[in-house]
Amino acid sequence: CGIVGYAGTAVANDILLKGLERLEYRGYDSAGIALVNSDGVHVYKEKGRIATLREKMEKADSGMVGIGHTRWATHGAPSQVNAHPHQSHSGRFTLVHNGVIENYQYVQREYLADVAMVSDTDTEIIVQLIEKFANEDGMTTEEAFRKTLGLLKGSYATALLDELNPETIYVGKNKSPLLIGLSDDVNVIASDAMAMLQVTNEFLEIMDGEMVIVTRDDVQIKNQEGDLLSRDSYIAEIDS
Ligand code: GLU
Repeated sequence: CGIVGYAGTAVANDILLKGLERLEYRGYDSAGIALVNSDGVHVYKEKGRIATLREKMEKADSGMVGIGHTRWATHGAPSQVNAHPHQSHSGRFTLVHNGVIENYQYVQREYLADVAMVSDTDTEIIVQLIEKFANEDGMTTEEAFRKTLGLLKGSYATALLDELNPETIYVGKNKSPLLIGLSDDVNVIASDAMAMLQVTNEFLEIMDGEMVIVTRDDVQIKNQEGDLLSRDSYIAEIDS
C-alpha cells in the first residue's frame, strides 16, 4: 500500500502508474488514480492488479497533476467502491490515504452525522469533513485540511486535490511514510523514493504532524499551527 503524486508539466498518467507499480512490493488489493485537467478531476480505480488499472486508463483523460494509491484494505472489503481515491459529495475534493484512522467512527458521529458515506472505509470521513468545513465554515482548503487532520487519530500519508485549486496537491503525514521529490518545474510525492526515482533523486523528508502544499514550482512545509518550515533536501543513493 502507498501513495504517489505528481505536479508538473508532463502528462502524469504513466508516471503515476509506474509509481504505483514500484509500490507493488508493499502489497495491495486495489489501486486508483485521480488526474486533474481543464475539465476537472477524473478518477479511475479498480479492484485487483495495477495492470487492470493500466488497461482501464488507456483511453483516460490526461492530466499534468494527479495522485495515486495502492490499497491494502483495513476497513471495508477490497472492492471498486472502497478503492481510493475517494471523493466528497460535490466532487470538489478527491483524496488518497495510506494508514488507519483509529477514531473515524467518533469523527463521523460528531461531525458527519448528516452526511451519507459512499464507502465502508475509515478514509472517506477525511474528504467529507474537508468539504463540510469548506462549505459550512467558509474555510480555505488549507484551513479545512489542517483542521480535519488535527481531529484525526491514527496513521496517515494522505494527498488531496481540490477542483477549485487544480494546480495544488495538499499533503498530510502522521506515522505513515511520506517523501516529497523535487525537480525542475515538477514536484512529486511518494511513500517510498523508489516510486519516483523515474522523476528525481532529490527528496525532502516529511515529519509526523506536518502538512505540505505542493505545486509544480513550489513546496511549502507547514507545522500544525500553519507556520512555514524550512528543510534541506537529500539525494537518494539508490539504483532505479
Ligand atoms: N485504511 C484505509 C482503507 O482501508 C487505507 C488502507 C491503506 O493504507 O491502503 O481503505
